[in-house]
Amino acid sequence: MSIKKITISQHSSILSNPIEYLKGVGPVKGDLLKKELSIFTFQDLLTHFPYRHLDKTEIRKIGSLAPDADFIQVAGRIVSCEILGERRGRRLVAELRDDTGSLELTWFQGISWIQKSIQIGQAYLVFGKLSYFMGSPQITHPELELFTADKREGKDYLDPVYPTTEKLKVRGLNGRQIGKLTHTLLQLLHERDLPENIPENIIESQQLTSRYEAYNHIHFPANATLYEKAVTRLKFEELFMAQVRLGLIRSHRHRYSKGVLFEKVGDLFNTFYRSYLPFELTGAQKRVLKEIRQDTGKGFQMNRLLQGDVGSGKTIVALLSMLLAADNGYQSCMMAPTEILARQHYEGISALLKDMPVSIELLTGSTPKSKRKGILDAASNGSLHILIGTHAVIEDQVQFARLGFAVVDEQHRFGVAQRAKLWEKGVIPPHILVMTATPIPRTLAMTAYGDLDYSVMDELPPGRKPITTVHRYETTRSTVMDFIKSEIKKGRQAYIIFPLIEESEKPDYENLMKGYENVKAYFPEPTYWISMVHGKMKAAQKEANMQRFVQNDTQIMVSTTVIEVGVNVPNASVMVIESAEKFGLSQLHQLRGRVGRGAEKSYCILLTGNKLTREARERLKIMCETNDGFVIAEKDLEIRGPGDIEGTRQSGMLNFKLASIVQDKHLLDFAKQYAEILLNEDPELNLGVNLKLKSFLMQQIGQTNWSKIS
Ligand code: ADP
Ligand code: MG
Repeated sequence: MSIKKITISQHSSILSNPIEYLKGVGPVKGDLLKKELSIFTFQDLLTHFPYRHLDKTEIRKIGSLAPDADFIQVAGRIVSCEILGERRGRRLVAELRDDTGSLELTWFQGISWIQKSIQIGQAYLVFGKLSYFMGSPQITHPELELFTADKREGKDYLDPVYPTTEKLKVRGLNGRQIGKLTHTLLQLLHERDLPENIPENIIESQQLTSRYEAYNHIHFPANATLYEKAVTRLKFEELFMAQVRLGLIRSHRHRYSKGVLFEKVGDLFNTFYRSYLPFELTGAQKRVLKEIRQDTGKGFQMNRLLQGDVGSGKTIVALLSMLLAADNGYQSCMMAPTEILARQHYEGISALLKDMPVSIELLTGSTPKSKRKGILDAASNGSLHILIGTHAVIEDQVQFARLGFAVVDEQHRFGVAQRAKLWEKGVIPPHILVMTATPIPRTLAMTAYGDLDYSVMDELPPGRKPITTVHRYETTRSTVMDFIKSEIKKGRQAYIIFPLIEESEKPDYENLMKGYENVKAYFPEPTYWISMVHGKMKAAQKEANMQRFVQNDTQIMVSTTVIEVGVNVPNASVMVIESAEKFGLSQLHQLRGRVGRGAEKSYCILLTGNKLTREARERLKIMCETNDGFVIAEKDLEIRGPGDIEGTRQSGMLNFKLASIVQDKHLLDFAKQYAEILLNEDPELNLGVNLKLKSFLMQQIGQTNWSKIS
């Protein structure tokens, strides 16, 4: 898109002024605002929003006050003022009287200073939180000011209170004092400084407050309704701008980014499909394959997010796609987040392809140098069809002759930056298929990964027996261990997982070791054999221990969450999760997905201590109630909010100042609809009615980046 057609005003906006230039700030307070609240510019102060407002618009009559009043403002004369009580009960009590009644004002601190400053018989304007003591109204530590003629009507706006810090408070910038600065700032701003950026028709049909008004009213609203309208407007703006940006990126890719063309379905795909595929594909798998086939046959780059529940069979979809690439003369790579998982993919896929003329290699951090060279050569001379590995696959030394398809398994460990690195692997970027480990709620996925196309596999392969999940307390541990014994007797295997949220956390490590000793006491050798895997182990040892479990040489796998993703041991039928309250929902679901992979009935036992938070209880309950990853993902979003949901942290698309994609879901839906309609009609934002929007986005994104997406 040409950016010459429109001229955006390049004179620097007053909003970019450094905060110390604002009257009342200066260098000292300026530094504090930067350090404490990250307020660097006028703009930052403008978007430092109040968390509540105090209503001083009305002056109430004392006689009309009711116990349910909260903060109130009254005016009257102070008719008496004396110190009462001793020691800790010592307080200053004043009586305030208007023509309808009287009210007690009480201070426990600063008593003598306040007593000196109060003039008996003088009229005061009083503000504070009303309470009742023995049936009579009183205010403790009220705000007092002389009641002068200009105050008769009350204020004409609600007083904002801002988030602040202890350090700022002692320097005269408490939650209310910041409002003085905001007030000064808003006086300086004109409509042209906050020009409208949402197209007129949307403003009208959604009845949105103008941008200029919204900023005024979110800080200093005349009443609660105007405040709500201002918040709605600014939330909508955040969501709408995000949706338009994502839409631009996506549609640009669809229209302009050249992609490698997979023209045909060839011998490799067909032979594998007919002769080697060990099962019938599920309807969902077929549908997704069709979507991939269509996407890759257009000559544009595919960037697709594949959401599928644990065990829905994403790997085979990836494999068939890679065969499609090979049929068209292209290489593929597949990345997994851990060495164990990469190796398992490699072994699983090699076994499936064993009699087929497809060359496949594994590259990880622990691939020996001698082997490495051969693999790199095969990749760069084009003789290698499929490269499976960890992050090692996207290192700079790895050069492909014709990379056409890249699979990123278990998305959440891969950041956007790493995804971008793949693009650089070819002159024409390869198609990218990103597969999530656990489902992300749809609304979240649309927002966090709105630049990706989206497929869902919401169907499990047939014949799976649902996993029975129960919650047990620590105190019944021996019963749980006995249950494991009975399963082992039937030839099954069991996982026992300990929390190790950060691999480097020492206490957790010790916790695991203690747990291991404990398990050993229940399951002594040589009747039982135990494998242990944790993040601090050398890769080779991890691998060896893992292999013993895979081959059923050991019946029990004691592990941290390194086992979490993807590992496949169909004979395992019990998953015990220790301190289950410490895990998030999606992690629990992912762990549970390690069992229920074979024909046997499987169990997941969530062990916890007796003391549980309400939230933890809620999580455990959900786990026991459902096996559906999509339901769990939605609940997780409700409980925790989007910030903590795995896989979205790096997204950057969820860092809204005001909007929440959970609470403001309806606004998000509107924003998405409008953005879609708008981009359909005017994909490059060239229509006159959209120029304001375009110029806003160009400023927000920056010219250089804009030219990349548009
Ligand atoms: P995930 O989506 O969690 O990565 P996998 O790809 O590891 O799941 O598949 C889980 C298991 O289901 C594997 O053992 C795989 O062979 C098996 N599987 C996949 N698709 C089917 C199918 N259509 N019918 C039967 N089994 C299947
Ligand atoms: Mg998988």
